Amino acid sequence: MTQQERLHLSEHFTLYEMMRSGTAIENNIPNIPNLQQEQALRHLAIDILEPLRRQFGPIVISSGFRCQKLNRMVGGMPGSQHTRGEAADIVVNDVERGLRMLAFIKARLDFDQLVWEPLGAAVPRWLHVSYTLRRKNRRMIL
Ligand SMILES: [Zn+2]
Repeated sequence: MTQQERLHLSEHFTLYEMMRSGTAIENNIPNIPNLQQEQALRHLAIDILEPLRRQFGPIVISSGFRCQKLNRMVGGMPGSQHTRGEAADIVVNDVERGLRMLAFIKARLDFDQLVWEPLGAAVPRWLHVSYTLRRKNRRMIL
């Protein structure tokens, strides 16, 4: 693991867990954020993920940062906030817990977008949450 990957963005979240991707490894895509993207990830970790962890215990991130190439490869929306380091997908094994997380974020935290994904699925598999420094966060729930 490189020194950059070991970097802690916040008390419990490392840069590595926000950039690791099976697809990136299989396809030899470095998927390394620049400083601006890293700063966005840091704010996401401090302002959203840490409060969530304090409330709910350990959480698993299935996807954080995605460079453009990786984003295309995994079928992400063009311009996805993942490409800016502004979004994370939180694994939802337990829908009840996922719903409590959603309610907690909505009631207590500043956020840009919250999305149950895959969109339209009967059973959600992950919770997409984003946070931006570029403008006012929209507090949008899809
Ligand atoms: Zn997402």
